[in-house]
Amino acid sequence: MSGQVKYTLDETHIPKNWYNIMADLPAPPPPVLHPGTGQPIGPDDLAPLFPMSLIAQEVTQEREVEIPQPVRDIYRQWRPSPLYRARRLEAALDTPARIYYKYEGVSPAGSHKPNTAVAQAFYNKEAGIKRISTETGAGQWGSSLAFAGAFFGLEVDVYMVKVSFNQKPYRRALMESFGARCVASPSEETESGRAILADNPDSPGSLGIAISEAVEIAAKNDDTNYALGSVLNHVLLHQSIVGMEAIEQFDMADDYPDVIIGCTGGGSNFAGLTFPFLGQKLRGGRDIRLVAVEPAACPTLTKGKFAYDFGDTAHLTPLVKMHTLGSTFVPPPFHAGGLRYHGMAPLVSHVHDLGLIEARAYQQIECFEAGVLFAHAEGILPAPEANHAIKAAVDEANRCKAEGKAETICFNLSGHGHFDMQAYTDYFAGKLTDQTYDENELAMALAGLPSVAA
Ligand SMILES: *Cc1c(COP(=O)(O)O)cnc(C)c1O
Repeated sequence: MSGQVKYTLDETHIPKNWYNIMADLPAPPPPVLHPGTGQPIGPDDLAPLFPMSLIAQEVTQEREVEIPQPVRDIYRQWRPSPLYRARRLEAALDTPARIYYKYEGVSPAGSHKPNTAVAQAFYNKEAGIKRISTETGAGQWGSSLAFAGAFFGLEVDVYMVKVSFNQKPYRRALMESFGARCVASPSEETESGRAILADNPDSPGSLGIAISEAVEIAAKNDDTNYALGSVLNHVLLHQSIVGMEAIEQFDMADDYPDVIIGCTGGGSNFAGLTFPFLGQKLRGGRDIRLVAVEPAACPTLTKGKFAYDFGDTAHLTPLVKMHTLGSTFVPPPFHAGGLRYHGMAPLVSHVHDLGLIEARAYQQIECFEAGVLFAHAEGILPAPEANHAIKAAVDEANRCKAEGKAETICFNLSGHGHFDMQAYTDYFAGKLTDQTYDENELAMALAGLPSVAA
C-alpha cells in the first residue's frame, strides 16, 4: 500500500515506540493556558503534579517516542492484544462487511487502561515519587493504576466517585487486592471534598470532584504525584500501541479497514486505535473514516462547545481547549460510567475540529441491545462503554448490507463487562431507561465557561 510508513515492532510483535499524532497534524493544537494569567503554561507549572518525563511527552512533536524496556516487559504479559474477525457477528447480521475488533479486555484490569497506567507508574518511580493519587469513576482506571503501582512498588490512593464506590464493591476489592487505598469521593480528606460535603452531605460525587481531590493531594505533597487515565496527550500517546499493533495484524490478515470505530469518554481508547491509522492517512496513505461514539446523555463531541475549560469541578487544573459540556455539568446516571466526563481529549477535539473524524451519540438501551447481540455471537461480554462502539459497528455493517458494499469495519472492544453485571441484570429485568440530560443545566454549565481572550 503506497505511502504507508510501517511502525517498528519487536520480535514479540510489540511496538518499540509509541506513535505521536502531533508530528503529522496539518495544524498544531491550541496551547494549554494558565487560569490566572491566561498565558500558555510552561513545564514548571505542571511539575507539582507530573514527572518531567511525562511533561516532555505532553508537548513533544517527535513522531515516535521510545517505550522503556521495563514497560515493554510488563506489556508482554497481555500484549499484543488479539485482533479478531467477528465472523459469527457478520453471519448474524447477514452483512457483506468484514468486521474486526481489537480486544483490550485481555489486560489484568480488563480494559485498555493499563497501557498508560504501567507507563505512568514507571516514569513516576524513576523520578523518585513514593505515592500516586488519582480519581476513578466506574473503577477501571483505579484498578489499572493499582495494578501498575504494585509492579513498581508505588503507593496508590484512589478517589472513587461515591455512587460507584457504593455500586461497584468488586472494583474496590480489586484495587485493594493490588495494594491500593480506595476512598469514596467527596471525602473528608481534602479541602475540595470537605467544601462539597458542607454544601451537600449526600453528594453522589462526580469525576470532576474526584479529580479535584486527587490533584489537591498531589499538589500539597512533595512525594506524591497525580495521574490521569485519559484526556491528556501523554495518555493518548501510550494508547497508540493499540493501533500500531492493529496495523501489523491487518497486514497479516491481508486486509485494511475502511472505517474504524471507538467509544469516547475522555478519548483515549478511540485515539489509541485510530491515531496510528490517521497518521498513515495524513502521510498520504489510504483514506479511511474514523468514528467516535459517545452516550446521548453525555454528548461532549456532538453537543458540547469547542472552548477553553477546566478539567475539574474545583478549577485546580489548567485551561485546555476541548469539546466540553462545562466543568459544572453533572451527567445523569447511566451505566457506562467511563463515559461520564464533561470534557474530551484536546487532541481528539482538535482532529474533530479539523474535520478528520466523525462523531455520533447513542442511547443506552440500543447500546445494550448491540452488546448482548455481540456477546451471543462472539462469546465475549463487553463493558457498557464498549457497547457504544459495537452499536456503531452494527449500524455500519447494516449500511454495508443496504448498499451492497463489502467494506472492512474495525472497532475497539475497550474492555470486558465482568464487573458490570448489575448493568446487565438491570437490562434483562427491563429496568434500564434512556437518560436525557437537563437542557437548562447544560445551558447554565456552558454559560459558566471561563472567558479566554482570543
Ligand atoms: C475508561 C474506559 C472507557 C472510556 O475512556 P476513554 O479514555 O475514552 O477510552 C471506555 N471503555 C472502557 C472499557 C473503559 O474502561
